[in-house]
Order: sequence, then C-alpha cells, then structure tokens
Amino acid sequence: MAIYDLTKTPADSYDTHTHLNDDKLFHDVPAYIGRAHEFRVMEMNIVGYDAQGNERALEIAQAYDNIYAVLGFQPEDTAEFDAAAAEKLEEQLQQQQVVGVGETGLDYYWDTVPRDVQVSAFKKHLALAKKYDLPVIIHNRDAFDDVYAILKESGVTKGVMHSFSGTPEQAMAFVELGMHISFSGVVTFKKAEDVRDAAKAVPLDRILVETDAPYLTPTPFRGRDNEPALVKYIVDSLAETLSLSATEVADATRKNAHRLFLNHE
Ligand SMILES: [Zn+2]
Repeated sequence: MAIYDLTKTPADSYDTHTHLNDDKLFHDVPAYIGRAHEFRVMEMNIVGYDAQGNERALEIAQAYDNIYAVLGFQPEDTAEFDAAAAEKLEEQLQQQQVVGVGETGLDYYWDTVPRDVQVSAFKKHLALAKKYDLPVIIHNRDAFDDVYAILKESGVTKGVMHSFSGTPEQAMAFVELGMHISFSGVVTFKKAEDVRDAAKAVPLDRILVETDAPYLTPTPFRGRDNEPALVKYIVDSLAETLSLSATEVADATRKNAHRLFLNHE
C-alpha cells in the first residue's frame, strides 16, 4: 500500500508527541521532517525520555523552525534521574524552544523501576513544571489511581495525558483537573472502542493528536516504524469517531496545541 494518500490530507496539523530523537529515527531527521511537511504536519514536539533523548530533542528543536522540545525522564528511565540529572534538566528547561516538561509519569506495566523511584521522579517533574509555568506531558500505564492522586495534589493544571488509552470516565477525570487528552495511533486500532468512546466524551477544545513515533503506528501501517507524517491517520480516525471533517479535527487540535504549548491561537 502507498504510504500516503495526498487527496485525504487535511489542514495543517501539529504532532504534539514524537521521538525523532529515538535511535530508530534520529539518523534521518531531515528526511522525516521533509516528509512531515509534505503531508502538512507543520509543527511538532520532540519529546525527551532520558539524558541523551533530551540532548537530542534540544538539538533538533533548535535547528528547525516550528519544532519544539519537551524534556524529561520517562518512568522506565527514572533510575538515572539523580540529583545531577535533575539539575541538568532544570537548566535545559530554561533554554530556547523548550515548551514543556516530560514525558514523565508512572508505568506499572513494565515496572522496570521501583514504584517509589518513579513516584519521586514524577513529583520532581511536576514541581519543575510548576516552577517554570510549563505544561507537563504525562505517561500513564496501568497507574491511573496514583497518577491522578499525585497530579491532583501537585496543583499542576496544564498538560497532556499522552497517548490516552483509558475509559471515558478516566479521560474526564483528567479533563476536570485541566488536562488535555492526546490521541495516538491507538485510536485507529480495531479493539480500541473504549478509547474512541473517550474521544467522544472529551470536549473538542481539550483534544490533541500525536504519533508517539517510532511507536504506535496507526492502522493500516502497523508493523512498520511510525513517523510524524502519519499523524493524518489519527486525525482521520478521530474525524470519523466524532462525525467531523478531517479539516475540522486538524484545525481544532492544532489550535489547542498552540494555546497549550505556544501561548497563542
Ligand atoms: Zn513517547
């Protein structure tokens, strides 16, 4: 199958969560950005997950227009998030082109790092988000209760539940805390009825789209690496779910991303 169908390409879209800093994509950054532009994915956040991922995210964001960096340590990499790493992260968060803190959160599925270590790293990221008034990008896997309780207690009200994969009730609980809900390729999966129901429950002005490339490749390309250009398949799937046009979804999610990350419409 041809990778893209230009006839279905909607308005400009903003991929709010992508990992061109990942080894699988980092070797060919200009090509992935070029392809994204060809398919009207004009803006993106390169999201960090560990020390090297953060360095690379900054490097890419500072080299290209309309590409931004979000920096943090994902739960599985919090074993390396010591005091020195936290200090370095704080310094990086104050640099040009940085628009958020993350990804951070809790992962009780892989459970590769003890939960108390994950929790303390998550709290530290939330404190940094608050201190620098940056939105936070949250990774939650099998940890809804703890993520919700810690987020609520932190007082942080600006951010994203990334690659949302819970129920409508869980989505709305986060929306009530002020969060945006970001949908990835998961929304295109046949079995993800719950996720599509969640999209129907969330107000349109709180919805974002992301690829999480190179992971979570949308249907019909599962099995190959994902890339930012494929965000249109998530837009199309949401449009169908919400009975809107792809252009309406691309426009709304792009404007939401602008408000949240760039402080403009
Ligand atoms: Zn990610």
